[in-house]
Amino acid sequence: MQIRKGEADEGVRRGPGGPPHVKEGMSTSNPDLVGNKHGGPETTGPSNFVREIIIEDLKTNKFGGKVHTRFPPEPNGYLHIGHAKSINLNFGLAEEFGGQCNLRFDDTNPSKEETEYVDSIIQDVRWLGGDWENRLYYASDYFDQLCDWAVQLIQAGKAYVCDLTAEQVREYRGTLTEPGRESPWRNRTVEENLALFERMKAGEFPDGSRTLRAKVDMASPNLNMRDPVMYRILHAEHHRTGNKWCIYPMYDFAHGQSDSIERVTHSICTLEFEDHRPLYDWYLDQLGVYHPQQIEFDRLNLTYTLLSKRKLLTLVQEGRVKGWDDPRMPTITGIRRRGYTPEAIRNFCRAIGVSKTNGILELGLLEHYVREDLNKRAPRVMGVLRPLRVVIDNYPENQVEEMEAVNNPEDAAAGTRKVPFSRVLYIEQDDFREDPPKQYFRLSPGREVRLRYGYFITCTHAVKDPGTGEITEIHCTYDPATHGGNAPDGRKVKSTIHWVSAAHAVDAEVRLYDNLFSVENPNDVPEGKDFTVNLNPGSLEIVSGAKIEPSLRGAAPGSRYQFERLGYFAVDPDSIAEKLVFNRTVALRDTWAKIEKTQRGKG
Ligand code: ATP
Ligand code: MG
Repeated sequence: MQIRKGEADEGVRRGPGGPPHVKEGMSTSNPDLVGNKHGGPETTGPSNFVREIIIEDLKTNKFGGKVHTRFPPEPNGYLHIGHAKSINLNFGLAEEFGGQCNLRFDDTNPSKEETEYVDSIIQDVRWLGGDWENRLYYASDYFDQLCDWAVQLIQAGKAYVCDLTAEQVREYRGTLTEPGRESPWRNRTVEENLALFERMKAGEFPDGSRTLRAKVDMASPNLNMRDPVMYRILHAEHHRTGNKWCIYPMYDFAHGQSDSIERVTHSICTLEFEDHRPLYDWYLDQLGVYHPQQIEFDRLNLTYTLLSKRKLLTLVQEGRVKGWDDPRMPTITGIRRRGYTPEAIRNFCRAIGVSKTNGILELGLLEHYVREDLNKRAPRVMGVLRPLRVVIDNYPENQVEEMEAVNNPEDAAAGTRKVPFSRVLYIEQDDFREDPPKQYFRLSPGREVRLRYGYFITCTHAVKDPGTGEITEIHCTYDPATHGGNAPDGRKVKSTIHWVSAAHAVDAEVRLYDNLFSVENPNDVPEGKDFTVNLNPGSLEIVSGAKIEPSLRGAAPGSRYQFERLGYFAVDPDSIAEKLVFNRTVALRDTWAKIEKTQRGKG
């Protein structure tokens, strides 16, 4: 079944309407996402070729029946939703097969790494449900062992100290079509190499003046095999080892061996490391140590989103967003603040599965899983974003009734609450039109509507500011027989709107978010410009005068609600006692906006 773009914001449609939404051309092996002859998603788990490999390895007893994975972030930025895919895969597979998953920091580059990032990563992995028990490791824990292994390779004639500069190394490496040239230092004696490496380690040489390189094959079609650098000189303080080292191992020389030390069975990483696998294997084979299996899967990419720590750092450093936890950011800390749940992210990751080809998924697909989860768990409340004063002229002054409201129609156990009703209310400005267009069924002069959990009201007239002509309040009458929202005579109204009692409402600021970038592929930039030209200037809208029902007074930061008819909202930590601040996590489907759009399209 073809899944069309543009359905993504519409939330789920089950049954004959079809499956959730996958961007055209994206690769997925997940039957949940490609529809089936019954017209609805399959209930069987998504296909996952990594799982198939593990099942096969368990059958053949390849790793003694063990499954041991790891999630290996470099602490050079905050984690994003792409990392969540890897976390879910690594921790999820370990859990599924009764195995273990380590959290290991790949901290081999002291110049870009900071403990702030380490702390945030630990918090984020835990929040996503990753449990590494007592297995929190750092590649820097292995620096001594790695150095010993480097010496072992030198002694075996498999590594040499090279005096070429970084630029020369590049030059000698050759290209995809031309073989490389051997370094003039390639044939130093073992003794000379041992002595020079010792002096590198002792800090006798300046940064970049020498490297330790593996002696592999300068003619290899794989550039990674053309005598890759194992160690470089860098006089930099490391966040864990301080000034102990002035030589640091390269990623490729550290990663496989770290996996080996930790007895990882399946070293799962993204596709860009496929070309590194021969080197991963080479080091382990030359060292003659325990050998995990590297397996590569597709990176997560989402429309309107950048998933690159470096670019996200640019946004933070240039002040384009308020920080790593800005709710517009695709970082775990950002989407947490925005109100996404770990369960929604897990469901999303499980549903998209993994494959061997990179593609781009609709951002709307992620939002779909957020809506689906919040629908089950978020209590319903009433909040008015842009208040319009309503006076119910025939309602007794000073009377307050406590109306009974259902907390969550999806969850009977959530119970009910009381919402005060009085003579002066607020409704949404959008829910009143003096001159209602066709198909507009909300309040207008002479029209009767239902106030949710309240009464039927009929609008009598609007009052305007004589200066500006702006509507300042509207007047209505109510039908006392419709208490709770139903008419005993069975008459129907076409619309139900939400409201809050003016005297009881809590003030709130509401932050509405749109995509951070205004184009599907933010990396698609004109010559000479950078990705920031694609930032969406309307990605944040602050609504400052919102009025919320009083049950939310004192709501804790992080708590999530559905504002009826408007969307899901989470309490922001910026909230203070006098003023709550809400982030809109994701909007509900707005049928009227859709009609209007279609009408505009026709006109
Ligand atoms: P970035 O490109 O954002 O800087 P990275 O790959 O450099 O990410 P690491 O800290 O090295 O970040 O990543 C840790 C793990 O997460 C790696 O195994 C990496 O393959 C995986 N990972 C990173 N980005 C994604 C993504 N978009 N989708 C799936 N896995 C990812
Ligand atoms: Mg990386």
